[in-house]
Amino acid sequence: MESDFKGPEVQFALELIQGGSELARRIRAETPIRSIIKRDHSPVTLADMSIQALAGALLEKYLPEAVLVAEEDTDHLKTPEGAEDLEKIIAYLHAFFPHANSDKIHQWIDRGQGESAGSFWTLDPIDGTKGFLRGGQYVTALAFIQNGKVELAAIGCPELELQEHKALGKGVGIFAMRGRGCWAAPLGWLKEFSKWVRLEVSKRREIHQARILDSFDPEHRDVEKNRRIREVLGIREEPIFMDSMAKHAVIASGDSEIFFRTLPRKDPGYRDKIWDVAAGALAIEEAGGRVTDLEGRELDFGAGLMLARNPGLVATNGFLHDAVLGVLRKVDGC
Ligand code: AMP
Ligand code: MG
Repeated sequence: MESDFKGPEVQFALELIQGGSELARRIRAETPIRSIIKRDHSPVTLADMSIQALAGALLEKYLPEAVLVAEEDTDHLKTPEGAEDLEKIIAYLHAFFPHANSDKIHQWIDRGQGESAGSFWTLDPIDGTKGFLRGGQYVTALAFIQNGKVELAAIGCPELELQEHKALGKGVGIFAMRGRGCWAAPLGWLKEFSKWVRLEVSKRREIHQARILDSFDPEHRDVEKNRRIREVLGIREEPIFMDSMAKHAVIASGDSEIFFRTLPRKDPGYRDKIWDVAAGALAIEEAGGRVTDLEGRELDFGAGLMLARNPGLVATNGFLHDAVLGVLRKVDGC
């Protein structure tokens, strides 16, 4: 990687995905791994909260003025059952910041309630919490957004091995900056610029040979429509089912060509949260691929917490993008 990738932004991003992955692995190794159900019925773990606390602490150190928009809050930690979990989070954070205490943890996590306007960071501390719980894929995803566009992305993928870059081993960090490419390195070596390799999307132009990814969770898509789209595209091979933005990393690295997110039948108004897409979208684009919504529009990260103007997602190696959009229109029309 270019050694001039430096400055507090880069330092913050790399330390967060490296530390976040360490925390996630440590907490994942503890049994039983416990999850708490949030008000929106999605699960959260001590890893989600600890990594968000780490982000707040690192921002305080490197970028004290910066704004953070992140997925978690301190609601659970304020309940009587949360008191014990708070103690555990303090202990996890001590490994990074010896001055971690109850007040600091609240302050660091709550820092993620910033306003999603102008220039800000957005973080999903554990994207794919369900994958994390079942031993599948999950990532820590961080992006810097400026005027609705993603400018920097960092994704820690502790369980991912890139087939095109097997030498990196299992557990990779992905880093992308607008106009400066998409890069990967083994987690644990992120500060060693000589270890980084540049990622490029696959060159496959033949739709029948396309390798396709899909969400693991059937509630996150229209299962029947996805099957129909694959059929019309002429893709016979089953998709690889995977949680989280690990999917985006797989496309950026050239291991797969297509991922699309259709709207679930039960919830057609569903729109992605910005932290579920931003980092992965820049990684794919900087690796030479293309990312739009289901209607072919560019993603607008300046519309609040959600991608309010962009239904669904289509992410490809670029060559196959128009073919997927064309079939989406056809299948929608019938
Ligand atoms: P997935 O690609 O299935 O791993 O989903 C990525 C992220 O988007 C996760 O944070 C999910 O919780 C969220 N997500 C995707 N689709 C939906 C949906 N239909 N309803 C709620 N959350 C969703
Ligand atoms: Mg998520």
